[in-house]
Amino acid sequence: MTLTKTTCPYCGVGCGVLAGADGTIKGDPNHPANFGRLCSKGSALGETIDLDGRLLEPKIEGRAAEWDEALDLVASKFSAAIAEHGPDSVAFYASGQLLTEDYYVANKLMKGFIGSANIDTNSRLCMASSVAGHKRAFGTDTVPGVYTDLEEADLIVLVGSNLAWCHPVLYQRIVAAKEARPAMRVINIDPRRTATSDLADLHLQIAPDGDIALFNGLLTHLADAGKIDDQYTTQHVNGMAEAIATARQSDPTDTGISAQDLATFYDLWASTEKVVTIYSQGVNQSETGTDKVNAILNCHLATGRIGKPGMGPFSVTGQPNAMGGREVGGLANMLANHLELGNADHRQAVQAFWKSPAICTQAGLKAVDLFDACAKGQIKALWVMSTNPAVSLPDADGVAAAIANVPFVVTSDIMEKTDTNDLAHVCLPATGWGEKNGTVTNSERRISRQRAFLPAPGQARPDWQIVSDVATRMGFGKAFAYRTPQDVFAEYVALDAATSQFPRDLDLSIFADADYANLIPTQWPRNDQRFFADGKFYHPDGKAQMIPVTAPALAKPRFQLNTGRNRDQWHTMTRTGKSARLGPHLAEPYVEIHPQDAADLGVTVGDLIRVESTYGTAILRALVTPRIAAGQLFAPMHWTRQLTTSGTVNSLTAPVTDPVSGQPALKSGAVVANVY
Ligand code: SF4
Repeated sequence: MTLTKTTCPYCGVGCGVLAGADGTIKGDPNHPANFGRLCSKGSALGETIDLDGRLLEPKIEGRAAEWDEALDLVASKFSAAIAEHGPDSVAFYASGQLLTEDYYVANKLMKGFIGSANIDTNSRLCMASSVAGHKRAFGTDTVPGVYTDLEEADLIVLVGSNLAWCHPVLYQRIVAAKEARPAMRVINIDPRRTATSDLADLHLQIAPDGDIALFNGLLTHLADAGKIDDQYTTQHVNGMAEAIATARQSDPTDTGISAQDLATFYDLWASTEKVVTIYSQGVNQSETGTDKVNAILNCHLATGRIGKPGMGPFSVTGQPNAMGGREVGGLANMLANHLELGNADHRQAVQAFWKSPAICTQAGLKAVDLFDACAKGQIKALWVMSTNPAVSLPDADGVAAAIANVPFVVTSDIMEKTDTNDLAHVCLPATGWGEKNGTVTNSERRISRQRAFLPAPGQARPDWQIVSDVATRMGFGKAFAYRTPQDVFAEYVALDAATSQFPRDLDLSIFADADYANLIPTQWPRNDQRFFADGKFYHPDGKAQMIPVTAPALAKPRFQLNTGRNRDQWHTMTRTGKSARLGPHLAEPYVEIHPQDAADLGVTVGDLIRVESTYGTAILRALVTPRIAAGQLFAPMHWTRQLTTSGTVNSLTAPVTDPVSGQPALKSGAVVANVY
C-alpha cells in the first residue's frame, strides 16, 4: 500500500501522518512536529474516512440539485443582497478546518470583491485573545516559540491548557524531555485537576479568571526580587513602570492559591532562566482573555525571557489551521498576509495586487456579533463554511434562531446532517481530509501539506473551488480563475513579495520557488530562525510594549460552568464519532461535579443533573470527582442536537466576549444545577 505524506486535521500541533486509502495510518517519522508520534485521535483517522453520513451532492431546500443550479442560486442571492442592502448585509463564517488556500480565496472574495470585512471564523473561539495580546505587546501577531523550546526549557508553566488531552503529542514531547532531564520542572495552572496535572510538580488550582492577579503578582515579585532585566528592558521594552505599578494593585491571594504555593511558583519562575509559558483556551476564552495574555507576556518581556532557546510565551492553537487562517487574514479585523486592515496604504497595496473593484475599509463583525446581527435581521445572506456554529458558539440555541432568521443561508460541509445544515437553504458538498489538497500552518509557524489519498466522493469539491465558482458567477471570474490549490498558494506567496515594503513578521520568501507537490514541512520566515532574538519588535520604535492590566473582580455564583473537550473527541464529533475505539472513552454527555456539591444536591454517581442558565438547559450525567473544585462544574461541548435530546452544552454558555479580541468567555459562566 502506497502511503501519502499528509498532516493530521485535528489540532494545532500539526502532526505529520502517513496515510493509505485502505485506512492505514502511521505517524510520519520525519515530520518535525511529531517525529512519528500520534495521539488517540490521530491514530484512529483511518476509521473515519468512510462515506457514511457524507453530503455527496448539492442540496437546495433538501432536494438534490445540480452544481450549476446551486451555484447560480448562491451567487444570485448574495449579489441581490449586496445590490439592495450593501456589502455589509452579507457574511461568511469560516473555520480553522479550512486549508490556507480555502481561507485565502474566501477572504479575498469578501474583503476585495464584495468589499466588506464580514468574514469571521471559529478561530475567533480559539485564539483571538492571543492575536490581540501579541499585537499589543509585539506590534504583530507573532508566535515566537518553537517546539524544541519545550525540550530545552528548565521550567514549563502550563496555563489554562489540558495539553495531555488537547495537544497530546506536545504533551508526549514534554513527558519525554522530563524523563530525559528529571530536573525539568512543570507547573500546571488550571481550575481543574486534569490529566496534564499528573505530569506537574505543582498544580495551582486557580479560581476561574484569576490569571491576571496571579501573573501580576509574579511581575511584582520579579520586580521586588531584583529579577527585572534592566539592560534588556531599557533597550527593548516600553511601558514597564506603568505595568508594574498596575500589577502592584492586584492581590494574588484572590486566586484561591495558597500563599505557600504562590511563593513556590514565584520563586521557581524568578530563579529559572529557561522558562516557557504555554497557554491555551483557559486563557483565551475569557472576558479578560487579552489582558491575561498580556499579563503573561509582561513577565517574559520584563525578564528578557523571549527570543532565546528554551524560553518564551507559547500560545498553542486548538484548530489545525488557526495559524494559516490568521496568516491569510481570515478574521474580520485582519487584512491578508499580516497586513493591517486599518492602514490605508496596506489596503491600497492589497487592492492593487488583487486588481479588485473594492476593498473593505473597516473591521467586520466578529463571530458573536455576526450572529447577533443575524438575529437583528441585518444579515440577508450568510455562508457557513466547514463549521457548525449552531452547536459550537455560546448561546447555541440563540445562534440557531439567529441563523433561522437569515433570509438566505448556504453551508459548505462534508456532512449531510448537522445542526447548521438543518437551517440552510443550500448545502454544498465539500471534500474532506484525505480528499483535498492544500497547506496548513501549525502552532510553531510550520507550513505542511495536506495531500489527497482518496478520490473526491460523489460530487464533492474543494472549498477554494466552490468559493471561486460562486465568485465567478458574481462577475469576478478573472480574479478567481484558479485551476489548482497550488495556483492559490503561489498567489498568496506573491502577495507577500508584492507588499514587502511594509515591514512585518510574515515573510514567505522561503516559499517563492517551493516545489508545492513535494513541499516539506517548513517554518516561516526560515527554518530554525528565532523571532525577537535581536530584541527587535514590530512597533514603530522597534520596541515591545508591556501593557498595564488590571485583575477583574472574580464572580462567585453558586456554580460556575467550565466547558472544554474530551481526550478522544474532536469538536462536534463529525469525524471522531465514527471511530468505534474512540467512542468508549467518556461515551455520553456528562458534567464533573465536586463530591461536596454532589452531596449538597443529593446527587450520586450516575445520577442526572439539570444544569440551567439564562440561555438554556442541559441534562447531563453526574461525574462526581474531586478533580473539579467545589462550586465549579465542567462539561465537554461535543454532543450536538443530532446526538442528544437533552440539550447541548453551549445552550448554557453566555454570548459574553472579551472587549478587545471578541473571543467568547466559554470557561466560566454562571449556572444553576439540580438533581434531575
Ligand atoms: Fe493530530 Fe493533534 Fe493528535 Fe497530533 S496531537 S495526532 S495533530 S490531534
